[in-house]
Amino acid sequence: MGKVMSGLLVFLAACLLSLGGATNAADIVATQVELSSSEKKILDWIDARSDQILAELTSHVAINTGTGNLEGIDRYRAILAKDLQHLGFATREVASKPLPVLTCDGGSVSVADHLVASRTGSKTNRILLNGHMDTVFPASDEFQALSMEADGTLRGPGVLDMKGGIVVMLNALRALDAGGYLDQSNITVLFNSDEEIGSLGSRPLVEELARQHDIGLVFEGSRENRLTRSRKGLGQVRLKVTGRESHAGAAHEKGMSANLELAHEVVAIEQLTDYERGVTVNVGVIQGGEKRNTIPGCADAFIDLRYPTVEDGEYLLAAIDKIASTRHVVNPNYPGLPKTEMWGLLHRPAKQPNIEVDTLIAQAMGLSQIIGEPIEGTIYSGGGTDGSIAQAVGLPTMDTLGLNGEGAHSVREKTSLASLVARTKLAAVLIHRQIELQRAPE
Ligand SMILES: [Zn+2]
Repeated sequence: MGKVMSGLLVFLAACLLSLGGATNAADIVATQVELSSSEKKILDWIDARSDQILAELTSHVAINTGTGNLEGIDRYRAILAKDLQHLGFATREVASKPLPVLTCDGGSVSVADHLVASRTGSKTNRILLNGHMDTVFPASDEFQALSMEADGTLRGPGVLDMKGGIVVMLNALRALDAGGYLDQSNITVLFNSDEEIGSLGSRPLVEELARQHDIGLVFEGSRENRLTRSRKGLGQVRLKVTGRESHAGAAHEKGMSANLELAHEVVAIEQLTDYERGVTVNVGVIQGGEKRNTIPGCADAFIDLRYPTVEDGEYLLAAIDKIASTRHVVNPNYPGLPKTEMWGLLHRPAKQPNIEVDTLIAQAMGLSQIIGEPIEGTIYSGGGTDGSIAQAVGLPTMDTLGLNGEGAHSVREKTSLASLVARTKLAAVLIHRQIELQRAPE
Protein backbone atom coordinates (compact mmCIF):
# COMPACT_ATOMS: atom_id res chain seq x y z
CA MET A 1 0.00 0.00 0.00
CA GLY A 2 1.30 3.46 -0.91
CA LYS A 3 2.29 5.88 1.82
CA VAL A 4 -0.44 8.34 0.94
CA MET A 5 -3.04 5.59 0.90
CA SER A 6 -2.04 4.14 4.28
CA GLY A 7 -1.85 7.65 5.74
CA LEU A 8 -5.37 8.26 4.48
CA LEU A 9 -6.60 5.06 6.11
CA VAL A 10 -5.03 6.01 9.42
CA PHE A 11 -6.71 9.41 9.14
CA LEU A 12 -10.08 7.83 8.34
CA ALA A 13 -9.74 5.42 11.25
CA ALA A 14 -8.94 8.33 13.58
CA CYS A 15 -12.00 10.23 12.31
CA LEU A 16 -14.22 7.23 12.90
CA LEU A 17 -12.88 6.72 16.42
CA SER A 18 -13.29 10.38 17.27
CA LEU A 19 -17.00 10.13 16.46
CA GLY A 20 -17.39 7.99 19.56
CA GLY A 21 -19.71 5.63 17.74
CA ALA A 22 -17.15 3.98 15.56
CA THR A 23 -17.26 0.45 14.33
CA ASN A 24 -14.54 -1.64 15.91
CA ALA A 25 -11.47 -1.95 13.71
CA ALA A 26 -11.14 -5.73 13.98
CA ASP A 27 -14.78 -6.60 14.05
CA ILE A 28 -16.39 -9.79 15.26
CA VAL A 29 -17.36 -12.49 12.78
CA ALA A 30 -20.74 -14.20 13.16
CA THR A 31 -20.68 -17.75 14.49
CA GLN A 32 -22.40 -20.37 12.34
CA VAL A 33 -25.37 -21.52 14.37
CA GLU A 34 -28.43 -23.71 13.99
CA LEU A 35 -31.67 -23.61 15.91
CA SER A 36 -32.79 -26.67 17.82
CA SER A 37 -36.38 -27.86 17.49
CA SER A 38 -37.20 -26.48 20.94
CA GLU A 39 -35.76 -23.11 19.95
CA LYS A 40 -37.90 -23.11 16.81
CA LYS A 41 -40.95 -23.65 19.04
CA ILE A 42 -39.88 -20.72 21.19
CA LEU A 43 -39.76 -18.51 18.08
CA ASP A 44 -43.18 -19.71 16.91
CA TRP A 45 -44.60 -18.83 20.31
CA ILE A 46 -43.26 -15.29 19.96
CA ASP A 47 -44.53 -14.92 16.38
CA ALA A 48 -48.01 -15.89 17.49
CA ARG A 49 -47.92 -13.18 20.16
CA SER A 50 -46.55 -10.19 18.25
CA ASP A 51 -49.83 -8.23 18.67
CA GLN A 52 -49.76 -8.66 22.43
CA ILE A 53 -46.09 -7.69 22.57
CA LEU A 54 -46.80 -4.46 20.68
CA ALA A 55 -49.80 -3.74 22.92
CA GLU A 56 -47.62 -4.25 25.98
CA LEU A 57 -44.97 -1.85 24.68
CA THR A 58 -47.70 0.71 23.96
CA SER A 59 -48.97 0.46 27.53
CA HIS A 60 -45.47 0.70 29.01
CA VAL A 61 -44.65 3.81 26.98
CA ALA A 62 -47.92 5.41 28.12
CA ILE A 63 -46.73 5.38 31.75
CA ASN A 64 -44.46 8.37 32.19
CA THR A 65 -41.33 7.28 34.03
CA GLY A 66 -39.08 10.32 33.84
CA THR A 67 -36.41 9.80 36.52
CA GLY A 68 -38.01 12.50 38.68
CA ASN A 69 -41.53 11.09 38.33
CA LEU A 70 -41.49 8.84 41.38
CA GLU A 71 -45.21 8.18 41.24
CA GLY A 72 -44.97 7.02 37.59
CA ILE A 73 -42.02 4.72 38.30
CA ASP A 74 -43.79 3.31 41.38
CA ARG A 75 -46.76 2.42 39.19
CA TYR A 76 -44.54 0.92 36.49
CA ARG A 77 -42.49 -1.07 39.01
CA ALA A 78 -45.67 -2.62 40.44
CA ILE A 79 -46.67 -3.85 36.98
CA LEU A 80 -43.22 -5.31 36.32
CA ALA A 81 -43.17 -7.01 39.72
CA LYS A 82 -46.51 -8.67 39.05
CA ASP A 83 -45.40 -9.84 35.60
CA LEU A 84 -42.24 -11.39 37.03
CA GLN A 85 -44.15 -13.02 39.89
CA HIS A 86 -46.33 -14.72 37.26
CA LEU A 87 -43.14 -16.14 35.80
CA GLY A 88 -42.15 -17.67 39.12
CA PHE A 89 -39.79 -14.93 40.28
CA ALA A 90 -39.58 -13.82 43.90
CA THR A 91 -39.52 -10.02 43.90
CA ARG A 92 -38.25 -7.44 46.35
CA GLU A 93 -38.13 -3.67 46.28
CA VAL A 94 -34.88 -1.96 47.13
CA ALA A 95 -35.39 1.43 48.75
CA SER A 96 -33.68 4.51 47.35
CA LYS A 97 -32.24 7.32 49.40
CA PRO A 98 -32.35 10.97 48.32
CA LEU A 99 -29.08 12.02 46.70
CA PRO A 100 -27.62 15.31 47.98
CA VAL A 101 -26.57 17.67 45.19
CA LEU A 102 -24.08 20.52 45.21
CA THR A 103 -26.02 23.48 43.80
CA CYS A 104 -26.89 27.02 44.86
CA ASP A 105 -30.37 25.83 45.78
CA GLY A 106 -28.93 22.98 47.88
CA GLY A 107 -31.20 20.07 48.55
CA SER A 108 -31.26 16.66 47.00
CA VAL A 109 -32.62 14.57 44.16
CA SER A 110 -35.16 11.90 45.05
CA VAL A 111 -35.29 8.72 43.03
CA ALA A 112 -37.81 5.87 43.04
CA ASP A 113 -37.13 2.42 44.50
CA HIS A 114 -35.59 -0.37 42.45
CA LEU A 115 -36.91 -3.87 41.74
CA VAL A 116 -34.99 -7.13 42.06
CA ALA A 117 -36.59 -10.42 41.00
CA SER A 118 -35.00 -13.82 41.21
CA ARG A 119 -35.50 -17.47 40.36
CA THR A 120 -33.18 -20.04 41.82
CA GLY A 121 -32.64 -23.61 40.73
CA SER A 122 -30.08 -26.30 40.10
CA LYS A 123 -28.70 -24.93 36.82
CA THR A 124 -25.11 -23.80 37.18
CA ASN A 125 -25.03 -20.57 35.14
CA ARG A 126 -26.17 -17.55 37.14
CA ILE A 127 -27.67 -14.95 34.80
CA LEU A 128 -28.24 -11.28 35.60
CA LEU A 129 -30.74 -9.44 33.38
CA ASN A 130 -30.89 -5.66 33.69
CA GLY A 131 -33.02 -2.81 32.48
CA HIS A 132 -33.81 0.67 33.76
CA MET A 133 -37.37 1.84 34.35
CA ASP A 134 -36.65 5.56 34.05
CA THR A 135 -36.58 7.70 30.92
CA VAL A 136 -35.29 11.21 30.25
CA PHE A 137 -38.78 12.57 29.57
CA PRO A 138 -40.46 14.30 32.55
CA ALA A 139 -44.18 14.12 33.21
CA SER A 140 -44.55 17.64 31.78
CA ASP A 141 -43.05 16.66 28.39
CA GLU A 142 -45.30 16.73 25.33
CA PHE A 143 -43.80 13.45 24.07
CA GLN A 144 -45.84 10.87 25.99
CA ALA A 145 -47.31 8.14 23.79
CA LEU A 146 -46.35 5.46 21.31
CA SER A 147 -47.39 5.89 17.69
CA MET A 148 -46.96 3.45 14.83
CA GLU A 149 -46.53 4.38 11.19
CA ALA A 150 -47.63 2.33 8.18
CA ASP A 151 -44.12 0.93 7.66
CA GLY A 152 -43.92 -0.36 11.23
CA THR A 153 -41.87 2.53 12.62
CA LEU A 154 -42.60 2.96 16.33
CA ARG A 155 -42.11 6.35 17.99
CA GLY A 156 -42.44 7.27 21.62
CA PRO A 157 -40.63 8.32 24.78
CA GLY A 158 -38.49 5.41 25.92
CA VAL A 159 -39.68 3.20 23.08
CA LEU A 160 -36.00 2.45 22.47
CA ASP A 161 -34.40 3.58 25.75
CA MET A 162 -35.59 1.35 27.17
CA LYS A 163 -39.20 0.32 27.60
CA GLY A 164 -38.64 -1.60 24.36
CA GLY A 165 -35.76 -3.50 25.94
CA ILE A 166 -37.83 -4.30 29.02
CA VAL A 167 -40.68 -5.64 26.86
CA VAL A 168 -38.16 -7.74 24.91
CA MET A 169 -36.81 -9.21 28.15
CA LEU A 170 -40.24 -9.94 29.64
CA ASN A 171 -41.52 -11.63 26.50
CA ALA A 172 -38.35 -13.65 26.03
CA LEU A 173 -38.85 -14.91 29.59
CA ARG A 174 -42.54 -15.64 28.92
CA ALA A 175 -41.64 -17.62 25.80
CA LEU A 176 -39.15 -19.66 27.81
CA ASP A 177 -41.61 -20.16 30.65
CA ALA A 178 -44.27 -21.39 28.23
CA GLY A 179 -41.92 -24.16 27.13
CA GLY A 180 -40.85 -24.99 30.67
CA TYR A 181 -37.31 -23.75 30.04
CA LEU A 182 -37.16 -21.49 33.09
CA ASP A 183 -37.36 -24.52 35.38
CA GLN A 184 -34.30 -24.83 37.61
CA SER A 185 -32.81 -21.65 36.10
CA ASN A 186 -30.81 -19.15 38.13
CA ILE A 187 -31.90 -15.76 36.89
CA THR A 188 -31.99 -12.38 38.58
CA VAL A 189 -33.73 -9.41 37.01
CA LEU A 190 -32.74 -5.93 38.12
CA PHE A 191 -34.89 -2.95 37.13
CA ASN A 192 -33.37 0.25 38.49
CA SER A 193 -34.94 3.68 38.54
CA ASP A 194 -32.04 6.13 38.18
CA GLU A 195 -29.98 5.03 35.16
CA GLU A 196 -30.64 8.24 33.29
CA ILE A 197 -28.96 10.29 36.00
CA GLY A 198 -25.97 7.97 36.09
CA SER A 199 -27.22 5.24 38.48
CA LEU A 200 -25.91 7.35 41.35
CA GLY A 201 -28.15 5.57 43.84
CA SER A 202 -28.35 2.08 42.34
CA ARG A 203 -24.66 1.58 41.62
CA PRO A 204 -23.92 -0.38 44.83
CA LEU A 205 -26.89 -2.65 44.04
CA VAL A 206 -25.68 -3.22 40.47
CA GLU A 207 -22.21 -4.06 41.80
CA GLU A 208 -23.50 -6.37 44.51
CA LEU A 209 -25.65 -8.36 42.06
CA ALA A 210 -22.89 -8.39 39.43
CA ARG A 211 -20.56 -10.11 41.90
CA GLN A 212 -23.15 -12.86 42.50
CA HIS A 213 -23.63 -13.84 38.85
CA ASP A 214 -21.71 -15.37 35.94
CA ILE A 215 -23.05 -13.46 32.95
CA GLY A 216 -24.87 -10.15 32.51
CA LEU A 217 -27.32 -9.19 29.78
CA VAL A 218 -28.44 -5.55 29.59
CA PHE A 219 -31.40 -4.58 27.41
CA GLU A 220 -30.31 -1.13 26.24
CA GLY A 221 -31.07 -0.27 22.62
CA SER A 222 -28.70 -0.49 19.69
CA ARG A 223 -28.33 1.53 16.53
CA GLU A 224 -27.55 0.64 12.92
CA ASN A 225 -28.16 -2.96 13.98
CA ARG A 226 -24.76 -3.07 15.66
CA LEU A 227 -24.11 -4.23 19.19
CA THR A 228 -21.86 -2.26 21.50
CA ARG A 229 -18.61 -4.04 22.23
CA SER A 230 -16.77 -1.40 24.24
CA ARG A 231 -17.58 1.95 25.76
CA LYS A 232 -16.03 5.13 26.99
CA GLY A 233 -16.12 5.86 30.69
CA LEU A 234 -18.41 8.60 32.00
CA GLY A 235 -18.02 11.07 34.77
CA GLN A 236 -19.93 13.99 36.21
CA VAL A 237 -18.84 17.05 38.10
CA ARG A 238 -20.75 19.76 39.95
CA LEU A 239 -19.25 23.13 40.84
CA LYS A 240 -20.68 25.70 43.20
CA VAL A 241 -19.12 29.14 43.25
CA THR A 242 -19.77 31.50 46.15
CA GLY A 243 -19.15 35.18 45.51
CA ARG A 244 -20.55 38.20 47.30
CA GLU A 245 -23.94 39.72 46.59
CA SER A 246 -24.15 43.46 46.33
CA HIS A 247 -26.23 46.19 44.68
CA ALA A 248 -25.17 46.45 41.05
CA GLY A 249 -25.45 50.26 41.14
CA ALA A 250 -25.01 51.55 44.68
CA ALA A 251 -22.22 49.20 45.80
CA HIS A 252 -20.76 47.47 42.75
CA GLU A 253 -17.25 47.47 44.22
CA LYS A 254 -18.47 45.55 47.28
CA GLY A 255 -19.66 42.61 45.20
CA MET A 256 -17.83 39.63 43.78
CA SER A 257 -19.56 38.03 40.86
CA ALA A 258 -19.93 34.27 41.16
CA ASN A 259 -21.08 34.29 37.52
CA LEU A 260 -17.84 35.92 36.38
CA GLU A 261 -15.71 33.45 38.33
CA LEU A 262 -17.70 30.52 36.97
CA ALA A 263 -17.41 31.91 33.43
CA HIS A 264 -13.61 31.84 33.69
CA GLU A 265 -13.69 28.31 35.03
CA VAL A 266 -16.07 27.15 32.29
CA VAL A 267 -13.75 28.41 29.57
CA ALA A 268 -10.76 26.66 31.16
CA ILE A 269 -12.69 23.43 31.73
CA GLU A 270 -14.05 23.28 28.17
CA GLN A 271 -10.46 23.48 26.93
CA LEU A 272 -9.76 20.08 28.48
CA THR A 273 -11.55 18.41 25.56
CA ASP A 274 -8.98 16.53 23.51
CA TYR A 275 -10.44 14.54 20.61
CA GLU A 276 -7.12 12.89 19.85
CA ARG A 277 -6.89 11.52 23.38
CA GLY A 278 -10.59 10.65 23.29
CA VAL A 279 -11.47 12.80 26.29
CA THR A 280 -14.38 15.23 26.12
CA VAL A 281 -15.84 17.70 28.58
CA ASN A 282 -19.26 19.31 28.33
CA VAL A 283 -20.41 22.03 30.72
CA GLY A 284 -24.03 21.10 30.15
CA VAL A 285 -25.78 23.30 32.70
CA ILE A 286 -24.86 26.60 34.32
CA GLN A 287 -26.99 28.70 36.62
CA GLY A 288 -26.16 31.82 38.52
CA GLY A 289 -27.57 34.97 40.05
CA GLU A 290 -31.13 35.96 40.72
CA LYS A 291 -31.65 39.54 39.62
CA ARG A 292 -30.34 41.83 36.89
CA ASN A 293 -29.38 44.52 39.37
CA THR A 294 -27.69 42.32 41.98
CA ILE A 295 -24.15 41.06 41.66
CA PRO A 296 -24.60 37.30 41.77
CA GLY A 297 -23.56 35.67 45.02
CA CYS A 298 -23.83 32.10 43.80
CA ALA A 299 -23.42 30.18 40.55
CA ASP A 300 -23.29 26.48 39.80
CA ALA A 301 -22.40 24.18 36.91
CA PHE A 302 -23.12 20.56 35.97
CA ILE A 303 -20.48 18.95 33.79
CA ASP A 304 -20.23 15.74 31.75
CA LEU A 305 -16.96 13.84 31.21
CA ARG A 306 -16.15 11.06 28.71
CA TYR A 307 -12.85 9.21 28.64
CA PRO A 308 -11.31 6.02 27.24
CA THR A 309 -9.43 4.83 30.35
CA VAL A 310 -9.64 5.24 34.13
CA GLU A 311 -6.36 7.18 34.02
CA ASP A 312 -7.89 9.66 31.57
CA GLY A 313 -10.93 10.04 33.82
CA GLU A 314 -8.76 10.70 36.85
CA TYR A 315 -6.69 13.18 34.86
CA LEU A 316 -9.89 15.11 34.00
CA LEU A 317 -11.05 15.20 37.63
CA ALA A 318 -7.63 16.41 38.78
CA ALA A 319 -7.47 19.07 36.06
CA ILE A 320 -10.94 20.38 36.94
CA ASP A 321 -10.05 20.37 40.63
CA LYS A 322 -7.03 22.53 39.84
CA ILE A 323 -9.14 24.98 37.82
CA ALA A 324 -11.76 25.09 40.58
CA SER A 325 -9.19 25.79 43.27
CA THR A 326 -7.62 28.64 41.30
CA ARG A 327 -9.18 32.08 41.86
CA HIS A 328 -9.79 33.85 38.54
CA VAL A 329 -11.57 36.92 39.91
CA VAL A 330 -9.75 38.86 42.62
CA ASN A 331 -10.96 41.63 44.93
CA PRO A 332 -8.37 42.56 47.58
CA ASN A 333 -11.14 43.53 49.99
CA TYR A 334 -12.45 39.96 50.10
CA PRO A 335 -9.40 37.70 50.06
CA GLY A 336 -11.38 34.49 50.78
CA LEU A 337 -13.68 34.91 47.78
CA PRO A 338 -14.82 33.70 45.39
CA LYS A 339 -14.84 30.16 46.68
CA THR A 340 -15.48 27.16 44.44
CA GLU A 341 -16.65 23.83 45.84
CA MET A 342 -16.46 20.72 43.68
CA TRP A 343 -18.15 17.33 43.65
CA GLY A 344 -16.96 14.84 41.04
CA LEU A 345 -17.50 11.19 40.27
CA LEU A 346 -16.40 8.74 37.58
CA HIS A 347 -19.81 7.08 37.66
CA ARG A 348 -19.40 4.66 34.75
CA PRO A 349 -16.07 2.96 34.21
CA ALA A 350 -14.82 2.54 30.64
CA LYS A 351 -15.87 -0.83 29.22
CA GLN A 352 -13.23 -2.84 27.42
CA PRO A 353 -13.88 -5.74 25.03
CA ASN A 354 -14.30 -9.02 26.92
CA ILE A 355 -13.69 -12.46 25.43
CA GLU A 356 -16.83 -14.00 26.88
CA VAL A 357 -18.98 -11.12 25.64
CA ASP A 358 -17.31 -11.23 22.21
CA THR A 359 -18.27 -14.91 21.98
CA LEU A 360 -21.88 -14.04 22.83
CA ILE A 361 -21.93 -11.21 20.30
CA ALA A 362 -20.67 -13.60 17.59
CA GLN A 363 -23.41 -16.03 18.58
CA ALA A 364 -26.05 -13.27 18.50
CA MET A 365 -24.86 -12.19 15.07
CA GLY A 366 -25.18 -15.76 13.77
CA LEU A 367 -28.62 -16.22 15.34
CA SER A 368 -29.86 -12.90 13.98
CA GLN A 369 -29.10 -14.05 10.45
CA ILE A 370 -31.62 -16.86 10.91
CA ILE A 371 -34.12 -14.91 13.01
CA GLY A 372 -34.20 -11.64 11.03
CA GLU A 373 -33.01 -8.03 11.45
CA PRO A 374 -29.40 -9.23 11.14
CA ILE A 375 -26.79 -7.67 13.39
CA GLU A 376 -24.10 -6.15 11.21
CA GLY A 377 -21.24 -5.91 13.68
CA THR A 378 -20.21 -3.88 16.69
CA ILE A 379 -19.45 -0.30 17.73
CA TYR A 380 -17.31 1.54 20.23
CA SER A 381 -19.78 3.81 22.01
CA GLY A 382 -19.42 7.13 23.79
CA GLY A 383 -22.52 6.39 25.88
CA GLY A 384 -22.66 4.52 29.17
CA THR A 385 -24.82 1.74 30.59
CA ASP A 386 -25.11 -0.19 33.82
CA GLY A 387 -23.27 -2.92 31.92
CA SER A 388 -20.14 -0.83 32.38
CA ILE A 389 -20.60 -0.91 36.16
CA ALA A 390 -21.30 -4.65 36.20
CA GLN A 391 -18.36 -5.56 34.01
CA ALA A 392 -15.99 -3.35 36.00
CA VAL A 393 -16.54 -5.59 39.05
CA GLY A 394 -15.88 -8.71 37.01
CA LEU A 395 -19.19 -9.72 35.40
CA PRO A 396 -18.88 -10.25 31.62
CA THR A 397 -21.81 -8.15 30.39
CA MET A 398 -23.40 -7.83 26.97
CA ASP A 399 -25.27 -4.59 26.91
CA THR A 400 -27.33 -3.82 23.80
CA LEU A 401 -29.89 -6.61 23.69
CA GLY A 402 -32.88 -4.28 23.48
CA LEU A 403 -34.39 -2.81 20.34
CA ASN A 404 -32.64 -1.29 17.38
CA GLY A 405 -33.42 2.30 16.53
CA GLU A 406 -32.24 5.86 16.84
CA GLY A 407 -32.91 9.26 18.38
CA ALA A 408 -32.86 8.17 22.03
CA HIS A 409 -33.25 11.04 24.52
CA SER A 410 -35.04 13.18 21.92
CA VAL A 411 -38.49 13.51 20.34
CA ARG A 412 -36.99 11.68 17.35
CA GLU A 413 -36.69 8.46 19.40
CA LYS A 414 -37.84 5.54 17.27
CA THR A 415 -37.58 1.82 16.63
CA SER A 416 -39.60 -0.69 14.60
CA LEU A 417 -42.08 -3.50 14.99
CA ALA A 418 -39.71 -5.80 13.08
CA SER A 419 -37.00 -5.11 15.64
CA LEU A 420 -39.43 -5.71 18.51
CA VAL A 421 -40.26 -9.19 17.26
CA ALA A 422 -36.75 -10.13 16.09
CA ARG A 423 -34.99 -8.95 19.24
CA THR A 424 -37.50 -10.74 21.46
CA LYS A 425 -36.69 -13.95 19.59
CA LEU A 426 -32.97 -13.32 19.77
CA ALA A 427 -33.13 -12.64 23.52
CA ALA A 428 -35.19 -15.77 24.11
CA VAL A 429 -32.70 -18.01 22.32
CA LEU A 430 -29.69 -16.36 23.94
CA ILE A 431 -31.18 -16.63 27.44
CA HIS A 432 -32.22 -20.23 26.72
CA ARG A 433 -28.65 -21.13 25.77
CA GLN A 434 -27.32 -19.37 28.85
CA ILE A 435 -29.73 -21.27 31.09
CA GLU A 436 -28.49 -24.53 29.60
CA LEU A 437 -24.80 -23.58 29.77
CA GLN A 438 -22.91 -25.71 32.27
CA ARG A 439 -20.42 -23.95 34.49
CA ALA A 440 -17.80 -25.85 36.39
CA PRO A 441 -18.09 -25.21 40.15
CA GLU A 442 -15.53 -22.61 41.31
ZN1 LIG B 1 -30.97 3.56 28.56
